[in-house]
Amino acid sequence: MSSAKATSLPAFNHKHLLGIEGLTEAEITQILDLADQYVDQNRQTDKKKNLLNGLTQINLFYENSTRTLMSFELAGKRLGADVINMSTSSSSIKKGETLLDTASTLNAMHPDLLVVRHGSSGAVKLLSRKVDCAVLNAGDGKHEHPTQALLDALTIRRRKGRLARLTVAICGDVLHSRVARSNIHLLNIMGTRVRVIGPPTLLPAGVEKMGVEVYHDMIQGLKGCDIIMMLRLQTERMHGAYFPTISEYFSLYGLDAEKLSHAKEDALILHPGPMNRGVEIDAAVADDLAHSAIQEQVEMGVAVRMACLDLLTRSKRETS
Ligand code: ASP
Repeated sequence: MSSAKATSLPAFNHKHLLGIEGLTEAEITQILDLADQYVDQNRQTDKKKNLLNGLTQINLFYENSTRTLMSFELAGKRLGADVINMSTSSSSIKKGETLLDTASTLNAMHPDLLVVRHGSSGAVKLLSRKVDCAVLNAGDGKHEHPTQALLDALTIRRRKGRLARLTVAICGDVLHSRVARSNIHLLNIMGTRVRVIGPPTLLPAGVEKMGVEVYHDMIQGLKGCDIIMMLRLQTERMHGAYFPTISEYFSLYGLDAEKLSHAKEDALILHPGPMNRGVEIDAAVADDLAHSAIQEQVEMGVAVRMACLDLLTRSKRETS
């Protein structure tokens, strides 16, 4: 079957999207500019394009997901790809097949795009070496979640008109968060000022070397911030006690109206989801549309993933 040709489109010089680290400011801008176009397309009645006709996308998720899996599926389908979600609970993975054997098996079926989420940092990169197609990291352990950082950036850029010279506070469980790591890389590349706020137990040792300002006091850290990015406590990655009780954590680090009042008046609240209301964020604040852009992030997620699928298949479509 012939695929729609992408004639004279600007190329994207990466075979895979494994992380934000390694991308340039120009490449991030290229992804965001293209995603902006997909936002418009997704708001039309006819959302479908035949750009990826004939191409096969497999979504391989070893960890649970709602937003990322759904939006990658929607993104592929809106671009015309055949999209298959491989369930790890009903496949041979349950019978003990290794990641690399699964990769070789899928590779033999000639997919064009493999979207992978895995609980171990580095697993997606390892898998990318075993397959011939483009691999997109949909979150690997505590390491990176590049499309999340890109959709966060798109949300911020559309609301604030720029990324440079803004102050973003990333709050809570930074230690276990791939979202935080990808965002720190991206925001540093784009010239945004980054603060991390959390208890010492939930901040990685030496985090200041990543080009961020460190705060342990939420009110101090939020002063003058344009963007507040709240993180879920990743209890599934915790072995031991990182904070005394949930109610104590909420009173010190949970975002409520009082703490929010210390940020800029027009501060924007982001959360990658899933949210734990009453743990890291107060329900009223999460639903306060004057500040919260959480639902908008979900919309941007589909557009950003369409842009990534488009860019990573350009050279293939050019030569087909
Ligand atoms: N959904 C995001 C992730 O997969 C954030 C989270 O789970 O808290 O990393």
